[in-house]
Amino acid sequence: MKAVFDERQWAHDPKHFMANGTMLPNPEQPRRIEVLKSGAEAAGCTFDAPRDAGLGPIAALHSAEYLVFLENIYTRWRRIEGGGEEVIPNIHPARRTDSYPKSAVGQAGFHQADTACPISRGTWEAAYWSAQSAITGADLLAGGERAAYALSRPPGHHAFGDLAGGFCFLNNSGIAAERLRTAGLRPAILDVDVHHGNGTQGIFYDRDDVLTVSIHADPARFYPFFWGHAHERGEGRGLGYNLNLPLARGTNDADYLKTLEGALARVRAFGAEVLVVALGLDASIDDPFQGLAVTQDGFTRIGAAIAATGLPVLFVQEGGYLSDTLGKNLTCVLNGFQGGA
Ligand SMILES: [Zn+2]
Repeated sequence: MKAVFDERQWAHDPKHFMANGTMLPNPEQPRRIEVLKSGAEAAGCTFDAPRDAGLGPIAALHSAEYLVFLENIYTRWRRIEGGGEEVIPNIHPARRTDSYPKSAVGQAGFHQADTACPISRGTWEAAYWSAQSAITGADLLAGGERAAYALSRPPGHHAFGDLAGGFCFLNNSGIAAERLRTAGLRPAILDVDVHHGNGTQGIFYDRDDVLTVSIHADPARFYPFFWGHAHERGEGRGLGYNLNLPLARGTNDADYLKTLEGALARVRAFGAEVLVVALGLDASIDDPFQGLAVTQDGFTRIGAAIAATGLPVLFVQEGGYLSDTLGKNLTCVLNGFQGGA
């Protein structure tokens, strides 16, 4: 399977992550790249660098104001006397319809949903090329490939049109789906990350031309809390085109796979011509976030179930954090998909 990654994606090296009032090291470490790359290569992936498709396909989903913010905020932040080494907001608008300020601190609060998406010197460059990897992956499918893997890091599914969050800046999976749609295909996004794909849901919430389905740990007691509940089904034309399948904490392989069958049935009913899998691997029983309990065998069967749809599939990397099995879990999904488990 062809795979896409750009060395410039190493440039994002976040340091901080506030959890439960404690400042911790950020889990979205650059070292994830080498682990995931090895995991993909073990499943027969061959990597190429993405083409540069420019800002157009990114701006198709993200606001101009937000992109200007992402590209320039670090330089502006460094001019603040006493400012920290990373852009981390300390105030947020109570409602996002409140006024848009000129201040770097105010804009950080407007465009960053939480403290888990610090912006530093290389963030924009890495996020840009992470998105380009997904775009090139989409172009491979539009060009007739049956499957491709985009090692998109930093990840993307918590990023809304004008809002970063949860280690994410640009919504790589969404950008890829939109790229496929403009190529004349009917795309569905299946998000198997342990966290709800709230940014992806938000971007496509009022649309009926891209189906969004997410399987994740129940947000009643798990990030991202405010989104991902079963009653969120879309609005306007998009009503019925967003499906959330929250699972109890600690759900095992058998129950996960049963839920996945329902998700794939919805993808088939939608008449999808191509599937973008937002491939978080943090549903693993070994992941530090400890949301669900999918084993390596479970990941293999997830890959096989996706293959059984017969659809062309673009796998876009989302979460999945350093553990003894992170790379192996990726190998399992891709081998299961390719029938070589
Ligand atoms: Zn996640």
